[in-house]
Amino acid sequence: MVQSAVLGFPRMGANRELKKATEAYWGGKLSQAELLSEAKRLRLAHWKIQRDAGVDIIPSNDFALYDQAVPDRYTKDGLDAVDQYFAMGRGHQKGGVDVPSLEMVKWFDSNYHYVKPTFQNNQTFKLVDSPKAVVEFVEAKDAGIHTRPVLVGPVSFLHLGKADRDQSVDPIDLLDKLLPVYEQLLAKLKVAGADTVQIDEPVLVFDLPTNVKPAFKPAYDRFASLGDKIPKIVFTTYFGDVIHNLHVIPKNVYGIHVDLVRNPEQLPVVMGALGPKTILSAGVVDGRNIWKTNIKSAIEIVESAIQRLGKDRVIVATSSSLLHTPHTLASEKKLDPEIADWFSFASEKSHEIAVIAKAVTEGPAAVRQQLEANAKSMQSRATSTRTNDPHVKERQSKVTEKDHHRNSEFTVRISAQQNKLKLPLLPTTTIGSFPQTKEIRAERNRLTKGEIKAEAYDKFIEKEIENNVKIQEELGLDVFVHGEPERNDMVQYFGERLKGYAFTTHAWVQSYGSRCVRPPIIVGDISRPAPMTVKESKYAVSISKKPMKGMLTGPVTCLRWSFPRDDIHQSVQAQQLALALRDEVVDLEKAGIDVIQVDEPALREGFPTSGVEDSTQIHSHFCYSEFQDFFHAIAALDADVLSIENSKSDAKLLRVFVDSAYPRHIGPGVYDIHSPRVPSEEEIKNRIEEMLRYLKPEQLWIDPDCGLKTRQWKETKEALQNMVNAAKFFRDKY
Ligand code: GLN
Ligand code: ZN
Repeated sequence: MVQSAVLGFPRMGANRELKKATEAYWGGKLSQAELLSEAKRLRLAHWKIQRDAGVDIIPSNDFALYDQAVPDRYTKDGLDAVDQYFAMGRGHQKGGVDVPSLEMVKWFDSNYHYVKPTFQNNQTFKLVDSPKAVVEFVEAKDAGIHTRPVLVGPVSFLHLGKADRDQSVDPIDLLDKLLPVYEQLLAKLKVAGADTVQIDEPVLVFDLPTNVKPAFKPAYDRFASLGDKIPKIVFTTYFGDVIHNLHVIPKNVYGIHVDLVRNPEQLPVVMGALGPKTILSAGVVDGRNIWKTNIKSAIEIVESAIQRLGKDRVIVATSSSLLHTPHTLASEKKLDPEIADWFSFASEKSHEIAVIAKAVTEGPAAVRQQLEANAKSMQSRATSTRTNDPHVKERQSKVTEKDHHRNSEFTVRISAQQNKLKLPLLPTTTIGSFPQTKEIRAERNRLTKGEIKAEAYDKFIEKEIENNVKIQEELGLDVFVHGEPERNDMVQYFGERLKGYAFTTHAWVQSYGSRCVRPPIIVGDISRPAPMTVKESKYAVSISKKPMKGMLTGPVTCLRWSFPRDDIHQSVQAQQLALALRDEVVDLEKAGIDVIQVDEPALREGFPTSGVEDSTQIHSHFCYSEFQDFFHAIAALDADVLSIENSKSDAKLLRVFVDSAYPRHIGPGVYDIHSPRVPSEEEIKNRIEEMLRYLKPEQLWIDPDCGLKTRQWKETKEALQNMVNAAKFFRDKY
């Protein structure tokens, strides 16, 4: 029999119950016991969904309240375990305890962020008394559900972490110290009754440094030497291919999981590299996107594996955890049925996995009905006019190399800009959004429900913009923003104004901690029927004495933070978005907006700003702290001013700008905006001082890490005032 496996399930619940519970706990409205019991209830509900769908191998320990790993510095301040855990993610400023949060980074190219583990030179590891993996395994077992616990593998855990500030340890050198903890944990899981574990080693899809590659063998040899004292291991990779690292895949594990949605071509190669008895877990149902699986194609892939390995050595699985997909399609009551028929979320994907396993076990006749319905959906999507727009295709065919460049080089542009803008040294600005207050959300809700008219809403937004302008005047900022009160979300807002997008009402996915996003879905060719942001920006300019930035979300971010199509290449979708945004940039310039910021927290090809005047200052923002990995792509965008997230990373990272003699302006974020914590003026001054070691004062802008929409006004004003004061302090020195 061919078994079906899910690699992880979304944690939030169909109605984001986990978000609500955690936030209620943070707000003092729910006790810790209530929070934990709600979490437990959700875990159970999610296991049952998978069991009822017919999934054979159900994951446990895929759940987390926030994220994992508590470094030393959070264990000293007398917080209890749960608060300590949250402090690590969000920072903590209460009752005399003041700790900043840890750096958060994207989990591969998903929209999930994890807290980066940080290590000390003399780091030690200790297994806690009741390891979460064991507790949750037993919890499921007690509910009559036998699960396969999920663990982040030792090599990935170390390689995805970093040395703590001021520490020099190379995390991978800690492997010998770490392995005993894994051995103990695995042994405990075995005693608790786990027969297999899923060990995630996704870093295997990277080009690994030469000292990391050899780390797999000793680690997995040690596990193998423990024989049946520990559960059997399914060594799990995803979001890429492992072809370039084939020789480091351990041969002595029970199974290997690979992502065959993203990289189907790796199948024959991987099969050739398996140990003689190793099982292949074939990831054929997309864990990272919302499209209905083409069941027929999935079956063909699995069949080809079975032909070579036999039924006993193949598992049908999701390509990755389903964490990156929404909970269930059943919640979508407003989707057009034509489109809804093309989608499949975590609960539906659990069914798909079971159907595919059944088809290859018993033959296609066993699932004829499902196969027929599936083929119909596939056909409907491929041929729908919502998918294909010949006008867009035609415009794309006319794009030339020239369309990728500004008219003049930076030195010419910056002096034209300076003439117009007359900014002081170390100009201060913010990244765009100001607090999205309850009132704003309530008013938007009223508009959505039809309780107020568009004109009333527009008036309300104008008042908000006025207020934002006034506050920025009082704070003494140099380049203003309108504050984005009209935007629900930086991608959704644009998606709603572009043709080719579809929207859901409940399709939330976890972004970090309790934060969820509801990515719009690119269903067809993209175009811009009308201006999207000109009205608000124009109004803001009209009431402001200082330069005002127009705010756009860049094409790559629109793409990456949406669920993209899987039927045409993503670069084609990015270009369609870039062309639509280019129209917007030109319209903003025409409307008298002299500074335009394009947010590209997700980066790369197709920057939409060619074709603007030299004197129009183009800012680009990246909330991406590991920018050095993409440095060349960022530099190639040729933005006049770059703002990047930096406050939680080492200022040394800025060295790439020095090393490459980067000529343009840069605003590395001086404080973290993910946390309500107010940075002191002193702290910001220190940060600026560090930055000035790497960047020239004429090149440096002073801004926060990112937009402020998730913050409250009180902390926002305090933090920005400290920031402006710190900037003025240095300005006066030069
Ligand atoms: N302009 C956006 C904002 O301030 C940028 C957000 C982002 O980069 N994530 O909200
Ligand atoms: Zn940002």
